[in-house]
Amino acid sequence: MPFTKLGLSDPLLRAIAEAGYTTPSPIQLQAIPAVLNGHDLLAAAQTGTGKTAGFALPILHRLSQKAYGANRPIRVLILTPTRELAAQVAESVSKYGEHLHPRLKTEVVFGGVKINPQMMRLRGGVDVLVATPGRLLDLVNQNAVKLDKVETLVLDEADRMLDMGFIRDIRKIIALLPKKRQNLLFSATFSEDIRQLTTGLLVNPIKIEVAPRNTAAETVEQIAYLCNKANKADLLCHLVKTKDWQQVLVFTSTKHGANRLTEKLNKLDIKAAAIHGNKSQGARTSALSSFKAGEIRVLVATDVAARGIDINLLPHVVNYELPRAPADYVHRIGRTGRAGEEGQAVSLVSHDEVGALKLIEKLINTPIKREQIVGFEPADVAPPMPPEPPRAPRPPRRNTSQPPRKTTGNRTTGNRT
Ligand code: AMP
Repeated sequence: MPFTKLGLSDPLLRAIAEAGYTTPSPIQLQAIPAVLNGHDLLAAAQTGTGKTAGFALPILHRLSQKAYGANRPIRVLILTPTRELAAQVAESVSKYGEHLHPRLKTEVVFGGVKINPQMMRLRGGVDVLVATPGRLLDLVNQNAVKLDKVETLVLDEADRMLDMGFIRDIRKIIALLPKKRQNLLFSATFSEDIRQLTTGLLVNPIKIEVAPRNTAAETVEQIAYLCNKANKADLLCHLVKTKDWQQVLVFTSTKHGANRLTEKLNKLDIKAAAIHGNKSQGARTSALSSFKAGEIRVLVATDVAARGIDINLLPHVVNYELPRAPADYVHRIGRTGRAGEEGQAVSLVSHDEVGALKLIEKLINTPIKREQIVGFEPADVAPPMPPEPPRAPRPPRRNTSQPPRKTTGNRTTGNRT
């Protein structure tokens, strides 16, 4: 079904055409009519499915049908977990609403930068506010924002907001909204916490599930390279160079690790930059735009910083270390294989991470191919064991029925740095 059949107004269809979208993505096909009809929505969708347009387009359509009041109150509130995602969602909303008349005003507020300029920008009234929860509450406390006219609330990447500890802030914000409103909740995974949040928040929601729950996008090829922990940086350089990867997003588990890896890559003539919580907003934005522009080949990120990064058709995602929470793996590899394009998710797995790899496979319900690269074979992983013969009755002596010992090789410590 083409976009023209979804009931969106001409100015929106023009913006869609200008964005180069020809057909609605599966989530858009389901979400757009539901939101246009005023329903609440519970959508299981990863980043990369086109979910932003899925809620932004029908929201803009509804907003533009009604004139705003004298004070131009906030009528749509979109909460996101990170500043990067907030900025990207606001950019998308502005882009999709570009041709609407009268023009709608979208603003974005997030923490980590000065609050005063944000207060100034909100003064003239705003139709759509995109915000991270903490900063929004700061603004509310300073009387810079009123939420009593909000008609639609969007919780984007709700699971991540809960992971980041925003539940209390979210509940406080919800308490400030009018009781009667439309609620749209997007989440890649569905934990018990999310279920608790949705109960009482959503009224008869339309449920949409575009990728099976907790499974990776089918267009993503997943490979685990078994290697030694100490060789990971060299293996990554080898892969980038020999496979001629031009745009790679690499996840590390710590900020420190991200810095060290970035330094090493640059030394080996692979242009890299790191984004993580210790980097200023300016440094993050400039790293991201250099990466998008192709000036930087490898962007090294921690989970929190990478959340919500929107880069079209990112071909390669590397897990330099496997995430601690298996659900984060799903989020990470959601960065590739976007909007139906093929992508590759590569994990560098050292001996101490094999258990984590198995948990991930269990969560996504798919085996991940294991491979080794010549010259980088793990010295510390035992060769596959032959199938166990049927157990003979245990003889009375001790220590004879133990499996063969694993070779320890040059195993390094299993601690994450
Ligand atoms: P999202 O899941 O909202 O982060 O969107 C992922 C990417 O897909 C964004 O870069 C969008 O610009 C792009 N996109 C969204 N909808 C479509 C569509 N119908 N056709 C092609 N690309 C799209």
